[in-house]
Amino acid sequence: MKELSRVVSSIPPSETLAVSDRAKALKAAGQDVVALAGGDPDFDTPDYITAAAFQAIENGATHYPAPMKGITPLLEAIAEKMATDNGITVKPGSDIVVTPGGKWALFLALSAILNPGDEVLYLEPVWVSYPPMIALVGGTPVAVTLPGEDNFRITADRLRAKVTPRTKALMVNSPNNPTGRVITKEEIDAIVEVALENDLYVISDEIYETVIFDGRKHLSPGAQPGMAERTITINGLSKSHAMTGWRLGWLAAPTPIAKLATQMNSQTVSSAANFTMHAAVAALKGPKDTTRAMRDEYQRRRDFMVPALNAIDGVECANIEGAFYLFPRFPNSRRTSAELAEALIDKAGIASVPGGAFGRSGEGHVRFTIATAMRDLEKAVEKLAKAARDL
Ligand code: PMP
Ligand code: GLU
Repeated sequence: MKELSRVVSSIPPSETLAVSDRAKALKAAGQDVVALAGGDPDFDTPDYITAAAFQAIENGATHYPAPMKGITPLLEAIAEKMATDNGITVKPGSDIVVTPGGKWALFLALSAILNPGDEVLYLEPVWVSYPPMIALVGGTPVAVTLPGEDNFRITADRLRAKVTPRTKALMVNSPNNPTGRVITKEEIDAIVEVALENDLYVISDEIYETVIFDGRKHLSPGAQPGMAERTITINGLSKSHAMTGWRLGWLAAPTPIAKLATQMNSQTVSSAANFTMHAAVAALKGPKDTTRAMRDEYQRRRDFMVPALNAIDGVECANIEGAFYLFPRFPNSRRTSAELAEALIDKAGIASVPGGAFGRSGEGHVRFTIATAMRDLEKAVEKLAKAARDL
């Protein structure tokens, strides 16, 4: 047989999705496993959103949507949300593409700007899908390693050190998966400085925007002076409205980029689901209290988990500022993070994601999600306390 795709063969499958599947399979087989692996809110989608979807199905929204890139009320609701929450002005008719999940919006963004060999900077530890997506589109992923000892801080010098004449774009994610860091004004300034200096596009993944703690304010690179024409903002409802299964995300970009993303969408997935778009209008226009209540509950879980993990001998866990992942280290362990994650399942019955999945600088860590009921988190702490010595 002739050779299969080299580029697809070269990328790993998504480890976050693989471990989630594995944890579910172990549970289904009757094993006592606490699943702290994939990041999927344990909350139900709020009723008013589900009701809007049922209504849309009854009203016949079961055909292709029009326009395919997003029904007009949704494009308008997204533009309004971005103006109000993010300080970003986008034209609903030309600057937004609605996608089946934020993940596809990231892929479209890269597809719209990259040519073969273009380099894309990403910040490491990095969410598992960025480097493979860059490679799939024909780009070259380039890691900017952010040291854990310096709280994974972004500085202009750290970015500059990896810029070459081939650098096309920088991918940023705040609140961050997996570190839980939230970008500060100084870090945004560093990003803006380097982007303007080197004529870079910035892809800003803001999917965890609403999961932000201690009264911090989410800052969007696209709202900074000089950045509107070079920033692609990615967002969606998976985390803010507990809608992972609905597959609803979007990108907002300067018109020429959004135009190419629309073309790419039309030749691949065609569109997001029609009735899901109607539900999304309800979500964006609806009350904000359920989103806030979820945020408050994640914060309560963080406030329980971080001190509880640090109280266990051999576990070190930094406080997090947003998103719903903890990224603890096991400084006494000699295991690789993959071996650690294995040992956590075998000896403690806890499913986690090995830190190495987030790049070399993730080694020594594992990722635990706190998008899991409090009783499961309490159980995980108990189990870990008993097993920590054997890790
Ligand atoms: N970006 C980051 C950092 C994520 O963790 C995820 C996973 N939910 C996504 C984007 C994509 O989410 P979705 O496709 O479910 O909208
Ligand atoms: N983003 C979530 C995670 O990192 C869900 C899985 C995925 O899309 O990779 O666990």
